Amino acid sequence: MSGKLKTSIATVSISGNLREKLEAIAAAGFDGLEIFEADFIADHGSPRDVGDLVRDHGLEITLFQPFRDFETLPEPARSKAFDRAERKFDVMQELGTELVLICSSVHPASLGGIERAADDFHELGERAAKRGLRVGYEALAWGRHINDHRDAWEVVRRADHPNIGLIVDSFHTLGRKLDPDSIRSVPGDKIFFVQLADAPLIEMDLLYWSRHFRNMPGEGDLDVTRFMQAVMATGYDGPVSLEIFNDQFRGGNPRTIAKDGYRSLVALMDDVTRAEPDLSVNMAVIPPRVAAQGFSFVEFATRGAEADALRTDLSSLGFEKVGKHRSKAASLWQQGDIRIVVNEETKGHAASSWHARGTCVCDLGLVVANAKSAVDRASALGADVFLQPAGAGELAIPAVRGLSGSVLHFLDDSSDLSQVWQLEFSAEPAPAGAGLTHIDHIAQTMSYEEMLSWSLFYTALFDMTKAPMFDVIDPDGLVRSQAVEAANCSVRVTLNGADSHRTLAGTFLADSFGASVQHIAFATSNVFETLEQLAERGFETLPISPNYYDDLAARFDLSDDLIKRMQAKSILYDQEDSAEFFQAYSRSFGGNLFIEIVQRSPKYKGYGAPNAPFRIAAQKRLSRAKGVPKT
Ligand code: MG
Ligand code: MG
Repeated sequence: MSGKLKTSIATVSISGNLREKLEAIAAAGFDGLEIFEADFIADHGSPRDVGDLVRDHGLEITLFQPFRDFETLPEPARSKAFDRAERKFDVMQELGTELVLICSSVHPASLGGIERAADDFHELGERAAKRGLRVGYEALAWGRHINDHRDAWEVVRRADHPNIGLIVDSFHTLGRKLDPDSIRSVPGDKIFFVQLADAPLIEMDLLYWSRHFRNMPGEGDLDVTRFMQAVMATGYDGPVSLEIFNDQFRGGNPRTIAKDGYRSLVALMDDVTRAEPDLSVNMAVIPPRVAAQGFSFVEFATRGAEADALRTDLSSLGFEKVGKHRSKAASLWQQGDIRIVVNEETKGHAASSWHARGTCVCDLGLVVANAKSAVDRASALGADVFLQPAGAGELAIPAVRGLSGSVLHFLDDSSDLSQVWQLEFSAEPAPAGAGLTHIDHIAQTMSYEEMLSWSLFYTALFDMTKAPMFDVIDPDGLVRSQAVEAANCSVRVTLNGADSHRTLAGTFLADSFGASVQHIAFATSNVFETLEQLAERGFETLPISPNYYDDLAARFDLSDDLIKRMQAKSILYDQEDSAEFFQAYSRSFGGNLFIEIVQRSPKYKGYGAPNAPFRIAAQKRLSRAKGVPKT
């Protein structure tokens, strides 16, 4: 067994110039990178300078690529292809890398034939060996004669040269629906390199799909884990490298995308080990995915008049203040199992969140089985551990930084953490309030480009699955919505990706400078009774157009009486296989946010997506009305 498993990423996977890419790749924690010729053609430095620059960042060049249209050409093109190869070898030696990728030919003049290809590779192997270089052969899914890794392997096998090996790429195998288990019969030392990419299942031209829609393992629909199990079963111990062509990533933040890549690789190799424990994967063992058991608390950063307004909003929702922090300007509000911390500190994370965004959700707390192991997994996946000096009488609650500056805390049943509310807030027992029992879901908003980063964050760290993506029609654009859900649905988060700043979600992002939590949905077992009680406390629901209820009568077989009762309280309705869902919204909450109140039958799995356009239209009507000066 050789050293630790090496992680690598192709420079094409991220945006920026070469120097920006190197910084992002090194910061994310990779050991090396695949370099593309275009990277240093565009750079001012010579190949030798570029090689030194890479090594200065603590990285190694794991692969030089691509070399195209090499094999099975007739003369004189064949000789020219060998000349081209010699020139690439010169560049590789300057760069200081010893492995080149040759992808299967798409050249119209190429003749094909396994034996002819094997002869060409044998001769190339002789030339590479003289310089101490190696050549890997990859079957492109759209290769003219070779488009299957099994045929590429047959070429390599017959070439029978120690400097010629196979390169496998999950996209080319899984994208063509080839059985990855066929890789298991290749000797591990003949696989020179492994490239990984996932992709969403979309029916389209293979080449176009590959060049524009690849994404990180775990972000798409391909079974990259099974592919990688097959590779590791051969005894392969070379680098595992991401090769992701994706238009969004090319326009994205290189640091974020590189971090996502590293996160996806660590999670993938962990999945491989768990799926097939006999495999020898030379990587540090990390704790398993975290089973989130529920939301423990939601913390708001707020101040002054905004804090007064937030407290009024909380009272109108039936929350009561049950404790005040011993040493901080923070209070605890509770109802049922829902805890809201109102933090008015002028120092620390909450204060800086408030300065950046106004009143916003700055921290989320999740109940897990083992808080320390949750932090350990998160940090193995590249998340930053959140450390804020604990003041007198404060517990250090294990926490990590999520995306968009948010902080995620983990609480478990261990002695101290389970006592945190008594220890820090001397909390009184929770009131029953208006019947809100727990948090049904939290809705986070981000730009559409960031959605994959968020869903990967949740699905790599937690034992969570992605629900299908929905398009929500906002009158001013499209919002894409996808839920990530813990196995027992004890924690649900909906991710909303806004395309345009004119959508409601987009306006929220712009007005709150990228804050993430846009609404919180509280559950009740009786939405009618709860709203009745809330009305007495001054809570106002978002008014819904009467037309909605006419339409409801047409869509579902509901009694007139039920429809009338829903209309009277502005309750929206949905059904899945006779499982029912009721939802109502606040007009606003804590300034930029809003609250949803839901009653769901256990079998209802959705979030009322068909109602979203009506809700958004109502919210926009309301904000326009507010914007008109009163005369
Ligand atoms: Mg490839
Ligand atoms: Mg919702």
